[in-house]
Amino acid sequence: MGNKILDQNFINSLGKNFEYLSHAYLFVSPDSTYNNLCAEIFASHILCENKNFCGSCPSCQKSIAKTNLDLTTLPTGRTILAEDINLVVEKSLEKPMFGDFKVFILKEIDSATIQAQNKLLKTLEEPPRHVVFILTATNENKILPTIISRVRKIFLPRLNKKIVEEIILSPPPYLKEALPSKLNTNNLSEALEEGEGWLGKTIELLKAESFPKMYALSQEIALSFSKSKDLPVLSSKVLEFKDSILKFLEILGHSFEKLLREKGNLGYCEIITNINSAVEELGRNVGANLIVDNLLMKILEIKYNYNL
Ligand SMILES: [Zn+2]
Repeated sequence: MGNKILDQNFINSLGKNFEYLSHAYLFVSPDSTYNNLCAEIFASHILCENKNFCGSCPSCQKSIAKTNLDLTTLPTGRTILAEDINLVVEKSLEKPMFGDFKVFILKEIDSATIQAQNKLLKTLEEPPRHVVFILTATNENKILPTIISRVRKIFLPRLNKKIVEEIILSPPPYLKEALPSKLNTNNLSEALEEGEGWLGKTIELLKAESFPKMYALSQEIALSFSKSKDLPVLSSKVLEFKDSILKFLEILGHSFEKLLREKGNLGYCEIITNINSAVEELGRNVGANLIVDNLLMKILEIKYNYNL
């Protein structure tokens, strides 16, 4: 199980036949849901009685039901604190209940407090033999370098969009929790395109109610916006997404990146640069209304200059 998400060769490369298993791994990618899911799948492989996440042995069944006593996952939607690590250290000294290993997944270690990271460092220096730590992070620069030097760092690759589609349409049992029971797949092809092969990001887009509208509006600006008289209407439509304006600008940027790939016109490059500047200006607290108006005006000007 889990082979679609983490293929067998990849699992083997993490510690072939589990003879060369490291005592600590760090899974890094920009997609935190995906990182955590890969950590859970790898943990299930380690704990499986057949060392293969077979899905049917008692250990796998417990892993799927999230009741495996040899697997501890921290945190559940909050920052890891020093007290959490104390608990982990205490637990790591206990022998495994069923198999050869105890596995600890420490999610989003990059957002753990410095005190927590320092405490963890001590355990990573002299880990008990039966313990495997799997840390996940989206930004490795926020992790103490001394921790990074003691773990095996793995950059998780993005998946093929076809595989993301297959996983979403027939999710494996351990993924059901991450997916809403009634997932609206009407916009699946748009979400797959925008998700760029990141499973978690694609799922988040499908969950977001505003995504179909944002996508349609970005297409309208990219493909049919050509007259200044349309600017006020488009501007107010964009400002409907004021609370998630960065998300909208990301989608808008991707629409123009796609056009750049298809048509190769440098005007699209210039538009993308302007979208990036708008993102920076938002970070400096310039008013959103002004930024959106200026950006739309620039887009129109560039489209006119390059005859797009
Ligand atoms: Zn199994």
